[in-house]
Amino acid sequence: MSRKQYRAIFFDLDHTLWDFDTNSAEALRELHHTYGLHQRGVAVDAFLKTFKRINTQLWQLYDTGQIPQETIREQRFHRVLLEHNIDEYEMSLQFSQDYVSQSPQKKNLIPHAHSVLQYLHPKYPLHIITNGFSEIQAIKMTSSGIVHFFSSVVTSEKAGHKKPSKEIFEFALRENGLNASEVVMIGDNLVTDIGGAHAALLDTVYFNPDRIAHQQKVTYEITSLAELKSIL
Ligand SMILES: [Mg+2]
Repeated sequence: MSRKQYRAIFFDLDHTLWDFDTNSAEALRELHHTYGLHQRGVAVDAFLKTFKRINTQLWQLYDTGQIPQETIREQRFHRVLLEHNIDEYEMSLQFSQDYVSQSPQKKNLIPHAHSVLQYLHPKYPLHIITNGFSEIQAIKMTSSGIVHFFSSVVTSEKAGHKKPSKEIFEFALRENGLNASEVVMIGDNLVTDIGGAHAALLDTVYFNPDRIAHQQKVTYEITSLAELKSIL
């Protein structure tokens, strides 16, 4: 297969470049300690597990348009703490606020993210396409030292549409004077990143580190970001 020459690359941020799970766990462990949850009978590993499950559920509801973003912030820790028999809504809101301010300051990247960006940066304009909160995504990119690699960051807030809507991809194309056929979208989510980009007629790279079985049409599939160096 002959390699296509792209004019620009679109990247997802969370779980594709910024190591959401590791960073989130670091922040949660610190807050678990700060809030004295151990003393209240909540084991840290169980707490992390509950958070991961509930957070994933809420993000899925958000990604499919069933709840607004605020609901994630307002409800996730109340739900998590409830499962550990702590029913304190005000405390859960404070916890949520602390989590939202501390987690994005963590610096862990997905393996090979930095070296791959270093490799791609001189060759292509790079853009972030993300459903996250604008100000939060900016902090993550700055703390992890990758912000300078990117020509633009398109958030759902800015575009007025969120992935998997093809409109957010079309917005990013328009903003940067690009045609769909000139761009490849790289992401870890089959629905939002790959399905959405495919609907907008972009080529796709599915980052699938857990080797999840699927039927989705993808242009390329990788299990490590290092493989991008042989594709692009
Ligand atoms: Mg992602």
